[in-house]
Amino acid sequence: MSYTVAAVCAVVASVLYLAFPVLWEAARKRNMAKYTAYYDLKTLGHSRETSSKIPGTAVVCGGSIAGLLTARACHDHFERVVIIEPEAWLSTDEGRQTEALNQTSKRARIIQYDVYHGFHSLIYRAMANFFPDFDNAAAASGIKVDRTDMDYRISGVSPPSAPKFYGGNTPKRLWSSRRGLETLLRRLVLDTKAYPNIEQFVGSVLNNATGAAQAGHKWLPALGFAQDLQIQSYNPRAVYGSMTMRVPSSFWDSLSHMPDNARGPAAGPVPLPQWLFDFLDKLHEVEDTLAFQKIRQNADPSSLLPYEKCARLPENFVALGDANCRVNPIYGQGFAKVVNGVSSLNTLLEQGRFERALPRDFGRKFFNMQAPKIEPLWTNPKLFDTVPVPGESDNQMYKFKRRYIANLRKLAFKDEQAKLAMYRTSMMLDSATIDYFHPALIIKVFWQWMTSTA
Ligand SMILES: Cc1cc2nc3c(=O)[nH]c(=O)nc-3n(C[C@H](O)[C@H](O)[C@H](O)COP(=O)(O)OP(=O)(O)OC[C@H]3O[C@@H](n4cnc5c(N)ncnc54)[C@H](O)[C@@H]3O)c2cc1C
Repeated sequence: MSYTVAAVCAVVASVLYLAFPVLWEAARKRNMAKYTAYYDLKTLGHSRETSSKIPGTAVVCGGSIAGLLTARACHDHFERVVIIEPEAWLSTDEGRQTEALNQTSKRARIIQYDVYHGFHSLIYRAMANFFPDFDNAAAASGIKVDRTDMDYRISGVSPPSAPKFYGGNTPKRLWSSRRGLETLLRRLVLDTKAYPNIEQFVGSVLNNATGAAQAGHKWLPALGFAQDLQIQSYNPRAVYGSMTMRVPSSFWDSLSHMPDNARGPAAGPVPLPQWLFDFLDKLHEVEDTLAFQKIRQNADPSSLLPYEKCARLPENFVALGDANCRVNPIYGQGFAKVVNGVSSLNTLLEQGRFERALPRDFGRKFFNMQAPKIEPLWTNPKLFDTVPVPGESDNQMYKFKRRYIANLRKLAFKDEQAKLAMYRTSMMLDSATIDYFHPALIIKVFWQWMTSTA
C-alpha cells in the first residue's frame, strides 16, 4: 500500500515538476493581461471601418497628455471627437510648433511643463502604435528615441541590461522635456489630414475639471453618481528640482566623447567619467541662461480615485491619467498611468468593434479594467514613500516587501533571472509583479538576504 502511495506521489510530483514551466507561463500571461497594458498595446491604432464607427461625439476634457491620447484612441472608434481645452494658445499653431522650446506662451496649469521627463518603453510603444511615422516626427522635434537601459542604480552603477531577450536590442524609449513631448503629441493628434474627426475647442468643462484637479469627484456626486467615492491620498513631501539651460548647436562639438545615452552623474559608473566633468565645465559658457525651478508637492498630494468601487456610475464617463491617479513624480510614472488608462479604453472599444453603440455599463467596465493596471503604479510608490495613507500604516508587510525588492536589486548584478525580472519591469513591457516571485527567484533572494553584508 505504502509503495502505491509513494508511487502516486512520485508521479504527481513529476507531472507537477514537468508541467510547472507551462503553468507558470500561463499565470504570467494572466498577470500581465490584468495588471499591465502589454497585450492592450497591440490594438492601439487599429481603426474601425468608417461605416462601423460609433455615431455621435466623444467629448474629451483637457488637451494634455491623457486628453490627446484619449482623443487619438477615440478617433478609431467614434464618428467625431471633440477636445475641450481651456488654455487658448494650445489651439493655435504655437501649441503644436515643431520647435517647442521657442514657445513664448506658458502653460497655466502644468507646473512641470519645463521639466525633463523620462519615459518607459511602454510609452514609446504606445506612441509608435498610434502614430505610424512617430520616430521621424520625434526627430523633427529634437526628441530622442534611444535604447537606454535600466533605471535604477546602486552606488552609481546600473546592473547589466538584458538585450538578448529582445532580439539583441534593448527596447526603444524616449527622453524629452515635458514641453517637447506634449507639443509633439498635439501636433500629431491635431493633424487634420491624419485624424480628420478630431477637433479642439477652447473652453472649460466646469471649472478646472481634469488632470490634477480631478474634479470628477466634485461634480459627479451632484448628479447622483459616485457619492460613495473613497479617495485615498497622502503627501509624499517630494521636492523636485529642475535646471534648464539653452545651448547653441556648436556646444556639443567639443563633447563628442560623451556617450550617446549620457544622462548625467546618476547614469555614470564609479569613478565618474571625464566626459561628465568636461560637460559641467562647458556649461559655464551658457550659465547666464540657467533657469531653476523647484516644485514642491504640497498642494497636490498623491491620490487615487477608485471609481470602480462606487455603487452608481454614469454609463459613459471615464477618467484617466492624473484625473484618476496622481503619484509622486520622482517615480516618473505619469505617462505610464495615461497609457494604461487609454489602452483599457481602447481595448473595451475594440471588443465592441462591430457594435455601433457603447456597450452597456461602459463606464463601469472601463474602471474595472483600468483599476488593476493602475494598482501597481499606485502601490509601489506608496511602498517606497513610506508616508502612510490615512487609515494605513507603514506596516510589517510593506517593510518586508521593501527589503525583498532591495535584495532582488542587489541580486540582479550577478543573477540572470533577477536581472531579467528587474529589467523587464523597469521597461514596463512584457512583465508583471509575478516575475519577482518565481519560486526559484524567491529562494535566491532569501539567500541573498541572509548572506548580505550591508
Ligand atoms: C515635477 C514633475 C515631474 C514629472 N516627471 C514625470 C516623468 O519623468 N515621467 C512621467 O511619465 N510623468 C512625470 N510626471 C507626471 C506627468 O507629468 C503627469 O502625470 C501628466 O501630466 C498627467 O497628464 P494628464 O493629461 O492626465 O493631466 P495634465 O497634464 O494635468 O492635463 C490636464 C489638462 O486638462 C486641462 N483642464 C483643466 N481644467 C479643465 C477644464 N475645466 N475643462 C477642460 N480642460 C481642463 C488642463 O489645461 C490640461 O491641459 C511628472 C510630474 C511632475 C509634477
